Amino acid sequence: MATLGNPTHTIEVLKKYGFSFQKKFGQNFLIDSNILENIVKAADVTKDDCVLEIGPGIGTMTQYLAESARQVIAVEIDNALIPILQDTLSEYDNVTIIHQDILKVDINKLVQEKNNGKPIKVVANLPYYITTPIIMGLFESRVPLESITIMVQKEVADRMQVGPGTKDYGALSLAVQYYANPEIMMYVPPTCFMPKPNVGSAVIKLVRYENPPVEVRDEHFMFQVIRAAFNQRRKTLVNSLGNAGLNNVTKETVSKVLEQMNLSQTIRGEALTLEQFAQLTNLLIF
Ligand code: SAM
Repeated sequence: MATLGNPTHTIEVLKKYGFSFQKKFGQNFLIDSNILENIVKAADVTKDDCVLEIGPGIGTMTQYLAESARQVIAVEIDNALIPILQDTLSEYDNVTIIHQDILKVDINKLVQEKNNGKPIKVVANLPYYITTPIIMGLFESRVPLESITIMVQKEVADRMQVGPGTKDYGALSLAVQYYANPEIMMYVPPTCFMPKPNVGSAVIKLVRYENPPVEVRDEHFMFQVIRAAFNQRRKTLVNSLGNAGLNNVTKETVSKVLEQMNLSQTIRGEALTLEQFAQLTNLLIF
C-alpha cells in the first residue's frame, strides 16, 4: 500500500531525515493522493509496463507506480534523497533507484538493459527548470517509448498542445507534435504540492507516433527552419529565414517557395502548420 501522498506522511518523512528543499532542483513534492492516482490512470500503467520516473523525490509517485507497473526505474539527482528513497521504497522489489542527473543518463542503454529494448512509459512530476531538454532529449535520441505522461508548468503544457494562430504556438509546439500526439489530462493547482509552486501545473500525455505525421527530407533542417522562423516571430518568413544564415537560403529563395506554396509574401511563421513547415523545408532543399 502506498503510504505517502498526503501532507502528514510527507512531513513525517521530511522531519525524520531533516530534509530541506532545494529550489535549484525544482523540488515541489506531490501531496494529493487523488492527483497521484489520476496520473497513474492517465498514463495507463499496467503490470506489463516498465516505467521510467524522472525525479522521484521522496518516492511518493514511485509507490503508486510500483503498485501498478511491472518495473520502475527512478532517476534522482539529489544525494540527500537517496537514503530516503531506499527507506520509503524498501517494500517494493520492482523499483531500481539510480542516483544521477537525468540529462546525463544514457536512457537507450538503460532501456536495453532493463526492458530488452522494448518501449517504456515515462511518468513524472518533472523538475520544471529542465522540462524542454528532458522531452526533446527523449524524442531526439530515439528512446523506445510508448508515451510520456508528465506534470509540467501549465503554460508549457498549453504551448505543447496548441496549433497556429495562437500566442502560445511556437518551436516547442511543432517539435512535440512532430513526435507525439499531445493531450492535456488535467490541471493541478499549487495547493497539491509541498512547497507550493508559484505557477499553475498541468499533466500532459504525449503518445509517441510510430511514424511522424508529415514527411520531411531532412528533419534536422526542418527544425533549423522552425527555430529561425520563431526566433524573430514578429518578422515575415521572408525576412526571418532569409537573414538566418541557413544553408543556401536567401530572401529570394524563401519568396519563391512561398509563391509555390500559394502563401502570402508577408506571412509569418506563427501562421504555418507542421505540414506547411515540412513542405517549406522540402522545397527549400531543392
Ligand atoms: N516525484 C516527486 C513528487 O512528485 O513528489 C518529486 C517531483 S519534484 C517536482 C522534481 C524532482 O526531480 C526532485 O526530486 C528533484 O530533486 C529531481 N531532479 C531535479 N533535477 C533533476 C535531474 N537533472 N535529474 C534527475 N532528477 C532531478
